[in-house]
Amino acid sequence: MNSAQWIEKSDRYIMKTYGRYPIVPVRGEGCQLWDADGKRYLDFLAGVAVNNLGHCHPKVVKAIQDQAATMIHCSNYYQIPQQIELAELLCSLSFADQAFFCNSGAEANEAAIKLARKYSRDTSDRPERYGIITAADSFHGRTMATVSATGQEKVQRFFDPLLHGFSHVPFNDIAAMAAAVTEDTCAVMLEPIQGEGGVNIPARDYLAGVRDLCDRHGLLLILDEVQVGMGRTGRMFAYEHFGITPDIMTLAKALAGGAPIGTMLAKAEIAKAFVPGTHGSTFGGNPLVCAAALATIRVILEDGILSRTEEIGEYLLGELEGLQRKFPRLIREVRGIGLMIGMGLTIPGGDIVKAGHQKGLLLNVTHDTVLRFVPPLTVSKAEVDEMITILGSILAEVEA
Ligand SMILES: *Cc1c(COP(=O)(O)O)cnc(C)c1O
Repeated sequence: MNSAQWIEKSDRYIMKTYGRYPIVPVRGEGCQLWDADGKRYLDFLAGVAVNNLGHCHPKVVKAIQDQAATMIHCSNYYQIPQQIELAELLCSLSFADQAFFCNSGAEANEAAIKLARKYSRDTSDRPERYGIITAADSFHGRTMATVSATGQEKVQRFFDPLLHGFSHVPFNDIAAMAAAVTEDTCAVMLEPIQGEGGVNIPARDYLAGVRDLCDRHGLLLILDEVQVGMGRTGRMFAYEHFGITPDIMTLAKALAGGAPIGTMLAKAEIAKAFVPGTHGSTFGGNPLVCAAALATIRVILEDGILSRTEEIGEYLLGELEGLQRKFPRLIREVRGIGLMIGMGLTIPGGDIVKAGHQKGLLLNVTHDTVLRFVPPLTVSKAEVDEMITILGSILAEVEA
């Protein structure tokens, strides 16, 4: 079937939860995709920061193929070696002592919210102490609890009553957060760098200030690294840039090279609040996705992906700043760490994204006016150059 035929069927059978573009990718390799009509695209979205090793990395493909032929699924009533190995590896790489596995970012955040509430119940004599402070323009997922946590009216609209206990404060404003703490607060939940909210990077000392506030009030610090974790910023986890550690961290998107997985990591003292019967997931941490995650992390570690990300990220940032100098009337700001880069425009970015599609470039706009560049971490200099040439030609047309 060609693209037009797929799109017609999609209109009939798929619910309209996404404003989908009329593109039907059917095959991927590295930073490239091909659609059902054979057209090639350069992929600077990477499944929204999921395909960090590019499409179909041979080592991830092999791990999935081998595991699929051995055992795909096994109940969490039993011990799962791939899950145990993955937990050990993630703990060895981070602040954490223990892991819980689920299937998505929203579920990982759900688990974090439940763990924070349970821990607070176990350690405080105030049953009302379940408040969680999150940031305006944050994004934590689409389930009811994570929509309640998310600081964006547009994801909450139509779904109230929301889950009780969330308050939202401006991101990167430590005084506002301090003012929001009450005796019913049990935790703070933040993205270290906001993704969907427009690639917002906090001041150098913001997270240290939040950590200090949490310590002084006995609050848990939950970091949502669903988008920025797994090497995206040039470190395995974004918190490493800020000289602090959280108490709980959530990961998903890039963790298993495209296979659906989520995890919540925590310090042992907090993790012990989860006892049998308090939480669970049928698919969570099954052998197939854990084998994919193990292979993905090993490639990140063994192929020098982190230092490469830092290097190519600086190159991409420099090239985008070059475009900013050429088109100062269209580009307000370029900001980023590693390969998590945003370009703030003076105009809505939707038409630039569509023009990119015409020219075989997949880009993303978030928060209306911010072009977000989250290519595979394996992107080459030549591919960055190709993207810059295409984007430059689009901006020249927009300006003309
Ligand atoms: C994408 C994202 C989520 C939600 O992840 P899903 O897998 O779509 O549920 C949560 N938090 C952040 C920061 C994200 O970027």
